[in-house]
Amino acid sequence: MRKFIPIVSRVLILVLATAGYVFAQNDPEWTEPFPAFRIAGNVYYVGSKGLANYLITTPQGNILINSDLEANVPLIQASIEKLGFKFADTKILLISHAHWDHDAGSAKIKELTGASYMVMDADVPVVESGGKADFQYGNRPEFLYPPVKVDRVLHDGDEVKLGGAVLVAHLTPGHTKGCTTWTMKVTEGGKTYNVVIVGSPNVNPGYKLVHNTSYPQIAQDYQRMFDVLKALPCDIFLGAHGGYFGLEEKYAHMEEGRRRPKAAPTSGGDKPGAANPFVDPDGYKKFVAEKELEFRTELAMQKPAAK
Ligand SMILES: [Zn+2]
Repeated sequence: MRKFIPIVSRVLILVLATAGYVFAQNDPEWTEPFPAFRIAGNVYYVGSKGLANYLITTPQGNILINSDLEANVPLIQASIEKLGFKFADTKILLISHAHWDHDAGSAKIKELTGASYMVMDADVPVVESGGKADFQYGNRPEFLYPPVKVDRVLHDGDEVKLGGAVLVAHLTPGHTKGCTTWTMKVTEGGKTYNVVIVGSPNVNPGYKLVHNTSYPQIAQDYQRMFDVLKALPCDIFLGAHGGYFGLEEKYAHMEEGRRRPKAAPTSGGDKPGAANPFVDPDGYKKFVAEKELEFRTELAMQKPAAK
């Protein structure tokens, strides 16, 4: 039996190391190009298949949400230019939260465009340390990235304004301490819509929701986030990853409508008054409810185990 235990430990170490290795690999869809398109009003999709970026255009320059991996920066630039806008007109850079898949390219984008970088207060130490201050991944070299100086520190409820566009920063913490959900209003075909860009409601593999010494209030923060998300009015449902809101299906639906412009009820967002698949208040409510249930299930599982 004595000999048996070290063998089990060795096997366990190998299994855990392999799991860590698999998790460290970035999803190939993150760097897979996706067509750039107008979602509604002055909001455009300029992200990849797996990582979402949004461009909000104004007469005084543009706002870009998320910088993604460093490898995505040329893709984002190409998407912006394909839509007929200038990358150099990016005046403000925002993020969904301080994880490498949404912020590692920020140093490059700031350097190329001179954009002002605005980040939620509790995510600022992570951004400015290049990921080292992150409660979960700070000692994982594969998840670190170039540190960037933040130009404006945002607080819950702050507005980011440019050329008539107003975005509101909602602190939706848990996934990161400063995870941010962005809201704004857009006008399309004479109607005004509430846009919600969800920061992230996910409990990542390995996250400790109980007795987490580097993030003691993590469980309360997740609950606060779900309470905030449930209270936000949402017509146009978007998020940090296309998978949250069914990007591929909705884009295909929109394109189908554009190809058949006379088929009125299912036509795309370019035609005023037509049904836009990204207008999905029920999908938003369902997503938030599912994610809250996932969180509560994980919390319930971790509580007895932590005693
Ligand atoms: Zn994340």
